[in-house]
Amino acid sequence: MIIKTKFDVGDTVFPIEKTSVEDWVSCDFCGGTGKITGRNDKERGCPECYSKGKRQRFISTPQVGMKTTIVRMDIVCGNRVEEYYAGKNGAYLSQKDIFSSYEEAKEECEKRSKETHYS
Ligand SMILES: [Zn+2]
Repeated sequence: MIIKTKFDVGDTVFPIEKTSVEDWVSCDFCGGTGKITGRNDKERGCPECYSKGKRQRFISTPQVGMKTTIVRMDIVCGNRVEEYYAGKNGAYLSQKDIFSSYEEAKEECEKRSKETHYS
C-alpha cells in the first residue's frame, strides 16, 4: 500500500514558528477573574487562562527552509495526522505548520496574525 503524504522525506519545507509576545489581555472566558462558577455555585479554575485571569498573545513567523528526515502518520479520533521531523531542533512539525515555500509560510503567518492567538 502506498500512502501519499503532503511532503516526502528529503523535501525542503518552510515551517512557521509560534512565539509568545509580551502582550497580555484579560481572559474573555472568565472575565479576568481566573475562575468560573458552576451551576452549583462551586468555583473552579478557568480552563482557558489556567486560572491566571489573563492570556498571552502569540505571533507566527516563517522559518528558513529545512529538509524533512522523518515522516510519521497517525489516525487520531478518525482524523489523519501527519508530522514531519525537519532541521536540527529535535521537534516534530505538524502538517498544518509547514509549507513548500517561504512565501506560502509568510502568507499563512500574515493570515494567522490577523486572528488573535492566545495561550
Ligand atoms: Zn480565564
